[in-house]
Amino acid sequence: MPEGDTVWNTARVLHRALAGARLTGSDFRVPQLATTDLTGWTVRESASRGKHLLLRLAAPDGAHRTLHSHLRMEGAWRAYAPGERWTARPAHLIRVVLRSPGAVAVGYHLHEVALAPTAEEESLVGQLGPDLLGADWDPAEAVRRLAAHPDATIGEALLDQRNLAGIGNLYKCEVLFLRGISPWTPVRAVPDLAGTVTLAQRLLAANRGRWTQSTTGSLHRGQTSYVYGRRAQPCRRCGTAIRKAELGERVTYWCPVCQPERTRRDDAG
Ligand SMILES: [Zn+2]
Repeated sequence: MPEGDTVWNTARVLHRALAGARLTGSDFRVPQLATTDLTGWTVRESASRGKHLLLRLAAPDGAHRTLHSHLRMEGAWRAYAPGERWTARPAHLIRVVLRSPGAVAVGYHLHEVALAPTAEEESLVGQLGPDLLGADWDPAEAVRRLAAHPDATIGEALLDQRNLAGIGNLYKCEVLFLRGISPWTPVRAVPDLAGTVTLAQRLLAANRGRWTQSTTGSLHRGQTSYVYGRRAQPCRRCGTAIRKAELGERVTYWCPVCQPERTRRDDAG
């Protein structure tokens, strides 16, 4: 599942494949950019902001533009050697192809593909909160933004990228398990918001640079999470069956014993 760490890894793959290269061809299979041709453009760098991918380019006339994409649930970018077969996904899912002398980058199932002046990048990524994997990560600002909506459930607040950017459903579920917090707890009743935010950042950072996401420390299949994707399986701490239910627009997984419901902060003691 593409969360902040996966997007960070993807940005690095694109950077290694294309940074500094002059594009020899492009193919956009999205209506809004169908006539765009980036031949002759130079790739300056590839970066991530939360779950957004930003490929920064320079046009032959020197103008700086950013190619934005979002992976959502199914998206992926792959880098291939010239002449190598593109085998990662079915061809009908290809949305963007960028060719350079040394590599071909293929974007599958991408969303929000857009090209805008780099100076206006902020308009592409929306009102993102602090990026957990960004150079400018600011935990105090993330806590401030979360606390500004005290009645929201913590499960939904952690997914709201305007509060902090990079947490998807897997890390949300896992962080709340590790902190012993029910996903339905209102933000105002979370005993230690700063500790929750800090743990989320540590989990994402620990998974940078690899494609298997683990919150347990194990990279073995079936052992990489405490609650996410484990409905009806025994809790790794107490043996109780893990539950799954809808919360807002997403499903959530939790252990009803390790993550008791709280409505007031003083219930914590
Ligand atoms: Zn448990």
